[in-house]
Amino acid sequence: MVTSVQLTSAAPDCAIQSQISLARFTSFRVGGPAEWYVAPRTLEELRDSFEWADRRSVPVTLLGAGSNLLVSDGGIEGLTVSTRHLRRMAFDREAGRVTVGAGVSIATLAWKAAALGWSGLEWAVGIPGSLGGSAVMNAGAHGGEMKDVLVEAEVLSADGNRLETLKREDFGYGYRTSVLQGDRRLVTQTTLQLTPGFDPALVKARTRRHLEQRHSTQPYHMPSCGSVFRNPEPHKAAWLIEQTGLKGLRRGDAEVAQMHANFILNCGEARAADILGLIESVREAVYHRWDVVLHPEVKMLGAFGAIAM
Ligand SMILES: Cc1cc2nc3c(=O)[nH]c(=O)nc-3n(C[C@H](O)[C@H](O)[C@H](O)COP(=O)(O)OP(=O)(O)OC[C@H]3O[C@@H](n4cnc5c(N)ncnc54)[C@H](O)[C@@H]3O)c2cc1C
Repeated sequence: MVTSVQLTSAAPDCAIQSQISLARFTSFRVGGPAEWYVAPRTLEELRDSFEWADRRSVPVTLLGAGSNLLVSDGGIEGLTVSTRHLRRMAFDREAGRVTVGAGVSIATLAWKAAALGWSGLEWAVGIPGSLGGSAVMNAGAHGGEMKDVLVEAEVLSADGNRLETLKREDFGYGYRTSVLQGDRRLVTQTTLQLTPGFDPALVKARTRRHLEQRHSTQPYHMPSCGSVFRNPEPHKAAWLIEQTGLKGLRRGDAEVAQMHANFILNCGEARAADILGLIESVREAVYHRWDVVLHPEVKMLGAFGAIAM
């Protein structure tokens, strides 16, 4: 049964709800329910949500656009806080900076910047993540990544009591990593430095080219989490998986994509357990064939039992 708890500061439509399916909030379209779920619209509602969890000693899980997540079939215990309604966007035309709420889609921002003739985010157009998730993941593509454009981010402490500003250098950025991964602090907004003054038609054309390139090489039409494994330099995970003959390998409705071997697709009613099973089979086969250990880029949330990744 779904129940809901009204927060003191909140608008009538922002309540903490119980037993909300997370499958619809992940790009894999899998995952059980959040024990408790909230999608605050303001900093005050965010703070109240964190305090609500803190008072009850309930664990908090942070959810962006859910495009890099595998949520377990049993769902997530405690309070899942979604940033999807943090959508503020402010362009500083003098400075060429844009400050955006954590829940804004990075692809939407890339198109808005292109329409203004601001360069710097053309690479981001095919990434279906939020600004908050992308800052935490150091998302990147086509030679660009978040660390190239992020100036600073506003971050809320896990108990909801303290807001701090983290500069780019505080993020400890590496290849798809930052110090905020596995951390309970929440990025509420990010400020990016872009380069204004270009002909919008040119920036839009570059942005469109990147999107077309991705659509022709990656299976965007099916539910997935994008690349499942990190590239184990100097190798490419997709090449290793393909050369091991694993394209098309299936477990339940989960399948290693024919179009791009580092994608696992949900071809219908896949469960998280099917996807995890496939991830383990791929790792084992690649290790056996090449002596290379693949590490997942996808973040696993909820209870999966003992897995060594
Ligand atoms: C089709 C497809 C293509 C993709 N292509 C790329 C690509 O080219 N390059 C790339 O880098 N990635 C790619 N991805 C993966 C994904 O889109 C990125 O990692 C994205 O940046 C994740 O953002 P998100 O908002 O979806 O984060 P989520 O998946 O919701 O969360 C990811 C992690 O960040 C944490 N988190 C989320 N928001 C916040 C916040 N505000 N504060 C603190 N922690 C937070 C979560 O707890 C989780 O640990 C692709 C995914 C898909 C489905």
